[in-house]
Amino acid sequence: ATPTALLVGTGRGAQLGILIKGPQVLEATRRVDTIVLDKTGTVTTGQMAVVGCAAVQCGDEDEILRLAAGAESGSEHPIAAAIVAAAALKGPVPAAEAFASEQGLGVQAVVDGRLVLVGRPQWLASAWSIELPVELRAMLDTKEGLGQTAVIVAWDGEARGLLAVADTVKPTSAAAIDEFERLGLTTVLLTGDNERAARAVGDLVGIADVRAGVLPAEKADVIRSLQQSGRVVAMVGDGVNDAVALATADLGIAMGTGTDVAIEASDLTLVRSDLFAAADAIRLARRTLGTIK
Ligand code: ADP
Ligand code: MG
Repeated sequence: ATPTALLVGTGRGAQLGILIKGPQVLEATRRVDTIVLDKTGTVTTGQMAVVGCAAVQCGDEDEILRLAAGAESGSEHPIAAAIVAAAALKGPVPAAEAFASEQGLGVQAVVDGRLVLVGRPQWLASAWSIELPVELRAMLDTKEGLGQTAVIVAWDGEARGLLAVADTVKPTSAAAIDEFERLGLTTVLLTGDNERAARAVGDLVGIADVRAGVLPAEKADVIRSLQQSGRVVAMVGDGVNDAVALATADLGIAMGTGTDVAIEASDLTLVRSDLFAAADAIRLARRTLGTIK
């Protein structure tokens, strides 16, 4: 394509709400045959809400929520925002000290003099040697069976309860995924969330290939393995945890509402955070550069 055609394509992209890092990006966009979608904040709104709270061993549910919110107040994760918002409805959120977070695993902080942990059960087991009591394991299975994301709340070395959060699928996601199919693309759902929550979203939007429980560092491995099998891969994401995968993909696409790190790692930004614009971008690139391979 001539430089003029590329510039026209870039300008047309801006009109469609697609910010293109440079005209050369259109070439990668045209060649894409596989589109990998992050779940939370990409296919779903990322606006999570607490939908369940349970305590074990004579615990108190309000105390689970209150201490978890203290620990989560330093985190930018959508799960953290949901927990802090739910706790704030019931009373003041306690201050936390010594906050630290592990990407895609959970958070830790000292709240009311207790070392509070909130995160994935596997993380509590492997990093803290905290196993789940049978009762709590059963509660976790129930929540996950409903397609919810359950995080375990522990303090002073013991799992005390769980908080279940849920998210909603964006209104345009299913139609956008239909459109990807019409464009001949293979769609993959990629998430750090649990298998059942991921499948529930996959079923709602029509994605059969679901890769769940993937740690942030492993997301890029999934992209690389698709590339090694000969695919030209676009990755769509919004989070800090997606940045390496976005940079690894042949085409990185960030949601406009995403984190700065995700936007910087990407070639395209969807201003309205609408997946449909990703299909528009691919159609535009094919039209600008011609579809002949
Ligand atoms: P996604 O790929 O859906 O964006 P993440 O990689 O951010 O998911 O997170 C994966 C899992 O790690 C979450 O489902 C949750 O169990 C746990 N996790 C991540 N961040 C937090 C947090 N701030 N608090 C509690 N759990 C967390
Ligand atoms: Mg995300």
